[in-house]
Amino acid sequence: MSPDVSVIVPVYNEQSHTLHALVAEVQRVLTTLQVTYELLFVDDGGKHETNMVLRDIVANNSHCKLVVLSRNFGEQAAICAGLRHCSGLVSVNLDSDLQDPPALIEQMLQAWQNGFDVVLAKQSVRHEPISKTFPSAVFYRVLNFLADRPIPVDVGEFRLLSRPVIDAINQMPERIRFMREMVPWMGFKQMELPFVRADRASGESGYNTIKLLKLAFQAVLVSSTKPLFLMTPVALTIMVIGVTALALTSYFPKTIELSTNQLACLNLIFCSFVLLALGLVTPYIARIIGEVRARPLFIVSELVGFATVPMTNPRKQFADRQSGTIASSI
Ligand code: UDP
Ligand code: MG
Repeated sequence: MSPDVSVIVPVYNEQSHTLHALVAEVQRVLTTLQVTYELLFVDDGGKHETNMVLRDIVANNSHCKLVVLSRNFGEQAAICAGLRHCSGLVSVNLDSDLQDPPALIEQMLQAWQNGFDVVLAKQSVRHEPISKTFPSAVFYRVLNFLADRPIPVDVGEFRLLSRPVIDAINQMPERIRFMREMVPWMGFKQMELPFVRADRASGESGYNTIKLLKLAFQAVLVSSTKPLFLMTPVALTIMVIGVTALALTSYFPKTIELSTNQLACLNLIFCSFVLLALGLVTPYIARIIGEVRARPLFIVSELVGFATVPMTNPRKQFADRQSGTIASSI
């Protein structure tokens, strides 16, 4: 039978004690609420040690399951892998570092019972370093300015989704994804729930500067087509300036006098405008290539703790058979 709640946790190189604390807290909250649940970890191609910790957790807790990805596909893909493999009536996505308090699930479930299909946790207060909160606040606002449709501000990946929403997301074919844009686009009844976001319990963020910039870039790419239309008004303005200058110099030859050097520099400036326009189009072409290639969003290398799925660890099967052979030959 399907559990009431599927808690999905993408994990990339998280510390053992943090993961154990997360399991204990989820267990405490959901047992108190008397709901059935599964705790679905998605190992996003992190370190071997993290994988071992997750396997150990799954082996000792019947509520826990593990989806292992074949490499690091990124948080967005890991969340989608969780959604593809969860079976609950609702899903709740949590950060692996206890930044998203599982205690909020109670209010989320109440909102769901009141008819909401999407409950977005809004970071009303953030106890994180300013080096993290400031760029994030700027990012949300710039993204909203550029985006074709409004994107909820200060809302991360901590959200409840009802089964119809999960099924709809699983059917969406796009490869380059930004869930914070996809979910609001989908419609259904949505609401925001404010919460206080703590700093990471321990360890380091799975996002380095390059990964963060890539995510921000991807977010703009999937949320906005405005940059594509930016060049038309710029081109028109340059054209008006050019025609005016031509008219002026034709009627009053002494108005503008430029040296050969100045003309060469002007030429370079206008060439750079053309290249800039091409540069704005290029990421969109790259996105089209990514979509046309239609490679899977993620590759699952192993499923652990799933009752209905046969063991997909051939090494373990081999080792089990070997130990059986040895045992029978003694
Ligand atoms: N994460 C992931 N793949 C990555 C990077 C991060 O699955 O390549 C997970 C990570 O384990 C965590 C969540 O995404 O559960 C958010 O990452 P993190 O806490 O490092 O980011 P922050 O909260 O600092 O934005
Ligand atoms: Mg975090």
